[in-house]
Amino acid sequence: AKNNGKGQLVFCSEEMKQSLVEKMYMTNSLYRALEKNELFLHYQPQVSANSQEIVGFEALLRWNHQKLGTIAPSEFIPIAEKTGLINSIGEWVLMTACAQNKAWQDAGLEPVQMAVNLSVEQFRSDDLEAIVRNCLAETGLEPRYLELEITESIAMKESGDIANCLHKLKDMGVSISIDDFGTEFSSLSRLKDLPVDRIKIDMQFIQGIAVNPKDESIIEVMIHLAKKLGLKVIAEGVETEIQLGFLQDEDCDEIQGYYYYKPLSKDEIEKNGFALFK
Ligand code: C2E
Ligand code: CA
Ligand code: CA
Ligand code: CA
Repeated sequence: AKNNGKGQLVFCSEEMKQSLVEKMYMTNSLYRALEKNELFLHYQPQVSANSQEIVGFEALLRWNHQKLGTIAPSEFIPIAEKTGLINSIGEWVLMTACAQNKAWQDAGLEPVQMAVNLSVEQFRSDDLEAIVRNCLAETGLEPRYLELEITESIAMKESGDIANCLHKLKDMGVSISIDDFGTEFSSLSRLKDLPVDRIKIDMQFIQGIAVNPKDESIIEVMIHLAKKLGLKVIAEGVETEIQLGFLQDEDCDEIQGYYYYKPLSKDEIEKNGFALFK
């Protein structure tokens, strides 16, 4: 038992201690992961629903810990956010993803967009706009080939600062997409006021295709709404031919998911002489 500072005694079970120790160990290692080159990116292709051509990539962060092995982003991103490390890590992701996209263009590939995930913490640091601007300048990537993904929950925060920042990023020429769309109850009036180019329909709805007619109805409405607002629609987590067929019938623009490609390393993409590209 120990004193929690409020004069109460707190009891820790052995398991609680164990998981606490693991978390502290992971947190400590994360501080050094960047300099130890343990972080790297995978790139998941995004495919046109009509032509089946690759029209973009999403950069997805990976951590290869020397002792713990590969750690999933769902485990370490929350730690990175809590410690503030997400700012330096996020900047590294932006820089690496933009540099990679530029390198592929320089190698003669058809230019496509690279999507990068942003954490809400990166909007709280007031220099996000400068960081993105600097990243484009350093890598020489044209702004239109960078897409920033923000979750629906960030987009719907009643924060003028976030909306302001999005408008500045948009003015710079980068695209904005709303990730995990449908998981929050968005106020449609707010969506109309944000400088958004694309929505990503969350995987949970895709999994309901041919299983739950309500999910199918929600997808239909989301695609219809997006088209009315002049937005592009991408579906994520597409794994089966049935899901693909439904989305094609509903006029979904783009597809991301294991049905076509898992997230791939740079080497896997380059290995086949870029046969993946159009
Ligand atoms: P997300 O942005 O929603 O990314 C989509 C996740 O779905 C990825 O998981 C991807 O590997 C997975 N996925 C793609 N297609 C399929 C499919 O067909 N079936 C299934 N079951 N899964 C599929 P991942 O790579 O583990 O990333 C998890 C989350 O971690 C991401 O969710 C994102 O929120 C966060 N994340 C990843 N990289 C970054 C980053 O650089 N910065 C920030 N802030 N967050 C990141
Ligand atoms: Ca995403
Ligand atoms: Ca998502
Ligand atoms: Ca998600």
